[in-house]
Amino acid sequence: MMRDRLQDTKSYYDVVVIGSGLAGLTAANFLGRCGRSVLLLEQHYNLGGLATWFKRKGGHIFDISLHGFPAGMIKSCRKYWTKQIADCIVQLKSIRFDNPQFQLETTFDRDDFTRLITRRFGIEPAVVQRFFDTARAMNFYDDQAMTTGELFERFFPGRSDVVRLLMEPITYANGSTLNDPAITYGIVFSNFMSKGVYIFQGGTDLLIRLMKAELTSNGVDVRHSAAVDRVLTGNGRVTGVRANGKVIPCGAVVSNANLKTTIERLVGCEHFGAEFVEKAGAVRLNNSSCQVYMGIRRGESIDYIGDLIFTSVAGEFDSDKLCAKDVTSRTFSVYYPNTRPGSDRYAIVSSTNANYEDWARLSEEEYERDKAHLIETTLAALEKYIPNVRKKLDHVEAATPRTFERYTGHVAGATFGTKFEGLEISQTLPEQIGGLFHTGSVGIIMSGWLGTVNYGVIVANEVESFLYANSGTATVRKRDPAGSRREGEMERVSS
Ligand SMILES: Cc1cc2nc3c(=O)[nH]c(=O)nc-3n(C[C@H](O)[C@H](O)[C@H](O)COP(=O)(O)OP(=O)(O)OC[C@H]3O[C@@H](n4cnc5c(N)ncnc54)[C@H](O)[C@@H]3O)c2cc1C
Repeated sequence: MMRDRLQDTKSYYDVVVIGSGLAGLTAANFLGRCGRSVLLLEQHYNLGGLATWFKRKGGHIFDISLHGFPAGMIKSCRKYWTKQIADCIVQLKSIRFDNPQFQLETTFDRDDFTRLITRRFGIEPAVVQRFFDTARAMNFYDDQAMTTGELFERFFPGRSDVVRLLMEPITYANGSTLNDPAITYGIVFSNFMSKGVYIFQGGTDLLIRLMKAELTSNGVDVRHSAAVDRVLTGNGRVTGVRANGKVIPCGAVVSNANLKTTIERLVGCEHFGAEFVEKAGAVRLNNSSCQVYMGIRRGESIDYIGDLIFTSVAGEFDSDKLCAKDVTSRTFSVYYPNTRPGSDRYAIVSSTNANYEDWARLSEEEYERDKAHLIETTLAALEKYIPNVRKKLDHVEAATPRTFERYTGHVAGATFGTKFEGLEISQTLPEQIGGLFHTGSVGIIMSGWLGTVNYGVIVANEVESFLYANSGTATVRKRDPAGSRREGEMERVSS
């Protein structure tokens, strides 16, 4: 018989957090530190959401989304998690690009990009500086009408090669396109350009283990294999949740499930105002992803070929082609033994953006066939960088939008939340139902590791204010989450 994961929950919690993605984990930790009673419910058996890992026979460990994030994670982890977690964050030294327009290696920071764009691509230094300054100055409250494509056209007209260098990695990081608001690009790009690309040394398994220990030490009640199917409301306020069939009363809910799922499935449209439902219904989801996980046999090794390799055979950068099932672009993340110090293992993960519709309605036979094709074409592409790699591999498998949908419950396997308009809906949820909050990938700028961690903090601050205002009880902070961000700091939070 299945163990009842919720047998001994308390009769009431100040806050229930639904989902243990990085935003849910961070919000729960913040509120636990504030002295609130917090229950964290995760439907999967592992915590972390997309920031998770899995093991396979032969000693393989594969990370899903440990590919690179901005240096801002160090500060956020030190403030809102622990020094130990922050100290594990290290820089990736070599980011490579290989496409028909250029082949180059970079540390992916402002100095190196300035060098490349001026010397290699021949753009005037003053133009490059103005572009960086403009991107850096962008914030949430700026003009939202200019698109990223228009921003590039203003600074680099007709230079599809420069656009590719500037845009391709960001599209991989958050699914954004040239048609999305330029501010989403400016914020995310500038965060990366500040100091380069970073990774968590020790792997996602260590990260989540350390986060779980910190949550527990802050009194957060953490339960996995606990799926919430309903957020309960009464008199315009949240009253509790139903998880694994059990009703758990609480004063506030933070949903880390997809924004649309939260509104339409967990709460139900009938509980919101008509205008809000219409606006929420119009929010566009971001795309999904495919990945191929390749494990090098124990005892085998591969030469250093760079850490992150953006490859493409497409003539120019093209957002639609990047998601197409006929894959032309892939990012290879190469994990050497120093990813997990003490290990002697190597792994490679190929990531591509993908459209859910291309995979959703296939028969089982077609699905298996198309996955095998994805694996085969990925191996063929990787052979360019690691000749004879097939002989060194003893495990290969693929994930598709269906896989992401299954393991996270996200509608249409959306791996990067929603487009920009989702942010306003996420932020105004509590105006609709008292005590109902959403956090997690949304609006492009709140996506990625840094964006979701920081959005978790922003929302937790609001929850804390709500609880304080409604109960009138000041909480005793176990540890002051000093400097916790408030709305005004929205502009520089994402990855
Ligand atoms: C292939 C890929 C590569 C990526 N690469 C990078 C990268 O290099 N750098 C970077 O910064 N970001 C990257 N990202 C994005 C980053 O991983 C995500 O933006 C971030 O981890 C999402 O966190 P989140 O808080 O939104 O929650 P999610 O990770 O989406 O987790 C939500 C959690 O809620 C749980 N849940 C949902 N519904 C329920 C329910 N009803 N009851 C209980 N639990 C529920 C889910 O099971 C899940 O655990 C990548 C993502 C993908 C898919």
